[in-house]
Amino acid sequence: MKAARENLKEAVLWEPAADGKVHCGLCNWRCMIADGKSGRCAVRKNHDGTLYSLNYHKVCSANPDPIEKKPLFHFQPGSRSFSIAAMGCNFRCEFCQNWQVSQAAFEDGQISGQAIPPEQIVESAVRDGCASIAYTYTEPTIFMELCNDCGRLGKERGLSNVFVSNGFMTIEALDFARDWLNGINVDLKAFGEDYYTRLCKARLQPVLDTISYIAKETDIWLEITTLLLPDENDSDDELKKLVDFIVHNTGVDVPWHISRFYPQYKCPDSAPTSIDTLERAMEIGKSAGLRYVYLGNAPGAKSESTFCYECGRTLIERVGYRIVANNVENAKCPDCGADIAGFEL
Ligand code: SF4
Repeated sequence: MKAARENLKEAVLWEPAADGKVHCGLCNWRCMIADGKSGRCAVRKNHDGTLYSLNYHKVCSANPDPIEKKPLFHFQPGSRSFSIAAMGCNFRCEFCQNWQVSQAAFEDGQISGQAIPPEQIVESAVRDGCASIAYTYTEPTIFMELCNDCGRLGKERGLSNVFVSNGFMTIEALDFARDWLNGINVDLKAFGEDYYTRLCKARLQPVLDTISYIAKETDIWLEITTLLLPDENDSDDELKKLVDFIVHNTGVDVPWHISRFYPQYKCPDSAPTSIDTLERAMEIGKSAGLRYVYLGNAPGAKSESTFCYECGRTLIERVGYRIVANNVENAKCPDCGADIAGFEL
């Protein structure tokens, strides 16, 4: 057992409880885990009253990506972000676009990957000319130990750090990361508890609380993504409530990415989101006052680029993930001087 444990990493943000149990404080499931058992994410396990991460030494993806792919459109635009992941998730989304790595621990008990020391990850990011490290493809909360070690080392080397997250982490987890976390894209998957319960085996309210906290209490740059599932979360009424929440709790400068669904995982027979639906959602977002609304996963659709909300000038012109022109000057529109929000624009 000792030899096996040497391959594990003690978890962060847990505390001992009665009868050899441990209490995990990383995400809002707040699992109480008996000795020998794993938490709901299946990648954190109680061994003899200590909580360990099972995926710290199992990096399943490590490569540079455009930061636009996260998507983060107002964060060091045009830069590369070294993107890492480890298997597992605390949600069970039936439409997951990365289910091969996020759901494998549940599907067949598999947690596979390569042991890559944080020093090597950071070195690779610097060598590949990246401006940041992205913790992405799976939920970063469930590999927080690796994020923390890479995040601290990366910060020392001048790298930024970004999460692509379902937003289900606790406030304690956010506070734990905020010393080195510079940006985050949070999935706001829908605006109904029923959708979160039925399709994600999760809950909505903690996600709303996390988004509000990031916007009001931290200086972490925030963007929000919503994947539109036909006939599930795309009614006018639901989308209006969702964007009203964004406007009133984060402000109009937070970019909203509307993402196109393609049949995946347990939803193989659903139709892709229509372009009409994507454009209808975009109009709802703009009518509510959001300054930056983007369509994703829809090559050729309008609204990949950033326009000035005051004068309409094209500010950042994108074709897919490629920046064709960046006309922002000192975080302002070069024509009318309007402030353009973002991180190192
Ligand atoms: S990260 Fe979340 S799901 Fe995993 S053990 Fe901790 S509280 Fe449970």
